[in-house]
Formats: sequence, C-alpha cells, structure tokens
Amino acid sequence: MLGMRMPDVDVWSERVTVALGQNPSMFTGPGTNTYLVGTGPERILLDPGQGVPGYLPVLERAMERAGCRRIQEIVLTHGHPDHIGGVRAVRERYGKLRVSKFPWPESDAHYADLELELLGDGAVARTEGATLRGVHTPGHAPDHLCFLLEEERALFSGDNVLGVGTTVIPNQSGDLGQYLASLARLLELAPRRIYPAHGPVIEDGPAKLREYIAHRHERERQILAVLERGPAAVPEIVKLVYAAYPEALHAAAAQSTTQHLRKLEREGRVRSGGGDAPAGRWSLA
Ligand SMILES: [Zn+2]
Repeated sequence: MLGMRMPDVDVWSERVTVALGQNPSMFTGPGTNTYLVGTGPERILLDPGQGVPGYLPVLERAMERAGCRRIQEIVLTHGHPDHIGGVRAVRERYGKLRVSKFPWPESDAHYADLELELLGDGAVARTEGATLRGVHTPGHAPDHLCFLLEEERALFSGDNVLGVGTTVIPNQSGDLGQYLASLARLLELAPRRIYPAHGPVIEDGPAKLREYIAHRHERERQILAVLERGPAAVPEIVKLVYAAYPEALHAAAAQSTTQHLRKLEREGRVRSGGGDAPAGRWSLA
C-alpha cells in the first residue's frame, strides 16, 4: 500500500472534499482520508485522521478549496487511532466541536475529554447539501459506522472497503463473520460510489463489494485446502496462502487467518488443537 500517491487536497464531488491525513504507512496506505462534507460555509468533518502535526495546514487548504469557512461538527467512522487521533488537535484549532460516533465503551474510555455523542444505526448527521445516514457495520471494529450520503447515494465506507489493499480484521476486537454480514448489508444498499477511508474513490460500489466478498470466500477456500493436506498451525498456513505477499504483512495475515479459522470453527468445519497459540494446530472437523 505504501508508495501510492494521492494529492493532499482533492475535490471528489460538489459535496465531498478530501484532505489527506499525512500519516502514510504500510497499513494506512497513502494515509487516512479526512472528508469535508456538504455544500455550505459550514461542513461536517468526517474522520480527522491520526493527529500528525502536518495535517492542520492541509485541512486549512482543503477548507479554502471547498469554500468551507467553519467546521460544523466532527463525525467518526470508528475509534481506531488513525481516525479519532486527530480530533484533539482539530478542536484545539477550531474550538470545542461536537464529536459523534457509535459507542465502544472500552475504547471510548480513552477519549472521555471529547464528550463523545452517540450516533446509532440509522442516525443522521445533516449539513447544508448533505445527509449522512449511519449504517452500523461491525467486523473491522465493533463501533464501525459507514455513512450513506443520501444526495449522491454514495457510501463513506470507513475501513470496511478500501481504495487500496484489503481490510484487516484484528484478532482482539474484530470479527470476520460480522464483517461479511456487514459487507452483505452494504451491497444491499447498492451505493453508486464509495468514498473509502484509505485510497482513491471507488466508482462502482457494488462491483467492489462483490469483489471484497469473493476475496474472503477465496481465502477461506485456500485455508481449507491447506488443512485438507493435514493439520497446520497459523504461521504454516500463512506461509502457504500468503506466499506472494511480503513477509512484513504476514503478522496482519496471521490475524486474518485466525479470524477465518474461528469463523470456520463456529460453523463446525474446522477444529482447534491449541486455541490461538501460534503453535496450536488446526484441522478439518
Ligand atoms: Zn480501522
């Protein structure tokens, strides 16, 4: 993902201006996309990035370019640090803005000073020219919300669908079964465009969602194919299934693989000899 370049500021539609979060990395690609949403002088800031010092001047340029004079409020797709981490700096610069997200008590406890407001499934954040409807889509994170931009029937997909790379399902707080259900729910919404939290705009939303769902099913098939040859531990499975990927990504791949195995275990298709221990072996049920 590293190496893909995107402009710091770009206008993707009359309602959507993107300011890059200035936090490129192996896992964030070109960095977090932070969005100014709306058409009026006050706009919603969706996901203010990670909180790196270079971001505020970029946000300021994006506001100028968009004709946005004030930030109305901050709305978050979820509480991962590359999305919520920038809130404090933005509030220091622009005042005590309201911040809304879907609740995740364990994580939200670290941000008590932000006085987070609850945004539930189906709840709406509105500004001139834009209506954002929250769609609770857990799996990547328990508090994950996507937002349907009703005026464009476009989807802000957060980390559920990316313009570059694929979504990591963390071992601690992620859930692959929930994630696949969330993708199916998004496909039902048939969004035209997708504005992801990382990488460029996706022009054909349903095609991308189908590709994501097919990708996970293909991984599952590959993992089962390894186990058909005999019991194997996660690192062995990763070596075979992710042979084409740089080893730096294998730790993330191990998380995804464990998630697949847990889902298959719940479905009664595999069983674990040693739980999630690295040496624990998995076999077909
Ligand atoms: Zn995330």
